[in-house]
Amino acid sequence: MRQSSLVVVANRLPLDDNIAPDGACEWRRSPGGLAGALHAILEQTPATWVGWPGAIGEAARLPDLGTLRLRPMSLTDDELRGYYEGFANSTLWPLYHDAVEPPVFDRGWWESYRSVNRRFAEAAAEVAEPGATVWVQDYHLQLVPQLLRELRPDVVIGFFLHVPFPPPELFMQLPRRIELLRGMLGADLVGFQRPQAAHNVAQLATKLLGAHGADDAITLDGRVIRTGAFPVSIDVAEMRSLSARPYVVGQAHRLRHDLGSHKRVLLSVDRLDYTKGIEHRLTAYSELLRDGRIKVRDAVMVQVAVPSRERVENYRGLRDRIEREVGRINGEYGRVGEPAIHYLNQPFDRADLAALYQTADVMVVTPLRDGMNLVAKEFVAARRDDTGALVLSEFAGAAAELEDAFLVNPHDVDGLKETLLHALAADPAELATRMKAMRDHITTHDIHAWARAYLTELELARPLLS
Ligand code: UDP
Repeated sequence: MRQSSLVVVANRLPLDDNIAPDGACEWRRSPGGLAGALHAILEQTPATWVGWPGAIGEAARLPDLGTLRLRPMSLTDDELRGYYEGFANSTLWPLYHDAVEPPVFDRGWWESYRSVNRRFAEAAAEVAEPGATVWVQDYHLQLVPQLLRELRPDVVIGFFLHVPFPPPELFMQLPRRIELLRGMLGADLVGFQRPQAAHNVAQLATKLLGAHGADDAITLDGRVIRTGAFPVSIDVAEMRSLSARPYVVGQAHRLRHDLGSHKRVLLSVDRLDYTKGIEHRLTAYSELLRDGRIKVRDAVMVQVAVPSRERVENYRGLRDRIEREVGRINGEYGRVGEPAIHYLNQPFDRADLAALYQTADVMVVTPLRDGMNLVAKEFVAARRDDTGALVLSEFAGAAAELEDAFLVNPHDVDGLKETLLHALAADPAELATRMKAMRDHITTHDIHAWARAYLTELELARPLLS
């Protein structure tokens, strides 16, 4: 077994059905922030990535991706239902997003979650060279740090949670709260998007585990676990150079023309997920049309809603509700050849997304809760001049950094309507000031800075072995 000095452990491999007929392999990003987030670093560092390739059943061996070795994990259909769709995405995901949909507590899912986490820990233990750095990602694998520590006390373990960590009173609802907390605290460094998350974990560790919890370190069973906020970001330079490509610039012009050159374009790009506030946004837009404050001849909305977790019941229900509402809005307010909303239930590649970002006058990002929201940052990076407005939910991690966006509480539909109008009517000089400030921020806080900051801190957290 070949071993590496850096091991990334994540639910998914950074691949998306991309083994060509000749067996060749190339990076292709699935819709979802993580693969994109780590892509830049791992191209340059010899490492192994442990993860699920995305197809059910025995996983085939995969060729290396440049310097990156892939360690594919197999999942059965039962495990996919219990571990992934069940415990990870129907229990933890809604609970960690403020329970905006009620979390489901199904006792049958836990065993599956635990045994899959154990297998991931065993695989990481196999491919890590002595003293390696192992970086475990996200809520799917929250037990891995502790399980791995039991197998390999010599390695340094990082855990990063891409989603929010909930307030203690919500976390307390979890039937397996102690195991989940202990699992995560098996790491040497636990990173979050926001400082509040570290505070929540410190409180819980004190209350549930009798640990000594502070906001930057927790002492548990004589071990010190460092914690902190490391807001994730995007590859700003890559998005900028993509945006300057002739295809993208040409595509942005075509889209403008097709949407109506004289119209103001409002754009939203989300996975079709109940955390993204798509329904609140449609309500606001529909009421603005109803009240005649926005007219179909002057403005158009483009809603990209990428299919997501379609085997989970409430995702199918959400899709039905959204599609009915878009149909109703277009039926009531559209005109022949002039819909109020263009609804696109399909994934776009990065070049087409960059073109869409350039086409928008107002980018509307209204999650009810979101760990970060990379789309908001991509929009800023893709703008080649100082035009364009970003309407951004206060409940996205990105709001803590992009303070010059038009910040909004998406639950307050009246407030959202006013903010949309304000953004549409804003003076170009004001927009330019805001856009420059946001661009400056993401330029210095890009994905490379994020990875550097996290991995530097992780090395400092390496325990001294006697
Ligand atoms: N994305 C994509 N194609 C699409 C829509 C989205 O590649 O059609 C990407 C988008 O560029 C972003 C990611 O999916 O990098 C979404 O990340 P975000 O943090 O906004 O939300 P998540 O889906 O992780 O909750």
